[in-house]
Amino acid sequence: MTASVATDPGLAGAGWTARRVKPDAFLVSVASGAEVLAALNDFLRTQGIGSGRVSGIGAVSRAVLRFFNFATKGYVDQPFEAQMELSNLTGNIARKGDQIILHAHATLGRSDYTALAGHLSAATIHGAGEFFVIVSDVPVFKVHNDALGLDLYDLA
Ligand code: FE
Repeated sequence: MTASVATDPGLAGAGWTARRVKPDAFLVSVASGAEVLAALNDFLRTQGIGSGRVSGIGAVSRAVLRFFNFATKGYVDQPFEAQMELSNLTGNIARKGDQIILHAHATLGRSDYTALAGHLSAATIHGAGEFFVIVSDVPVFKVHNDALGLDLYDLA
């Protein structure tokens, strides 16, 4: 760990606190009651992080999962109102134009130990939400693929 990281002050924003733990990595805690994607997006925007990845765990009281219907290229949103373990949130971070895009998927554990999973559209942290953000060394962009109806990495 470099001296600059060791002496970095803690960071805070709308619904989150964070600390840089490596030159290219942050721990981020999302507050109970905060919408997790809004908080993580606020963290990324305020810190100027436009490429990398996010992973973490926690608990939620509400979540909206989204399913992409390939036939219609449309999205189906399904809300779930219950206390659930956020057993995993994994996402990638990229720029699209001048926007920072966080694309996140989640696995949610219910009280009967069954799991829900899907594209995460929204979730309200209830308890803890603790995340690790790894920043890429190079800027990464996404472009809309009209044939698939999806925003995909533009790596060529
Ligand atoms: Fe997705």
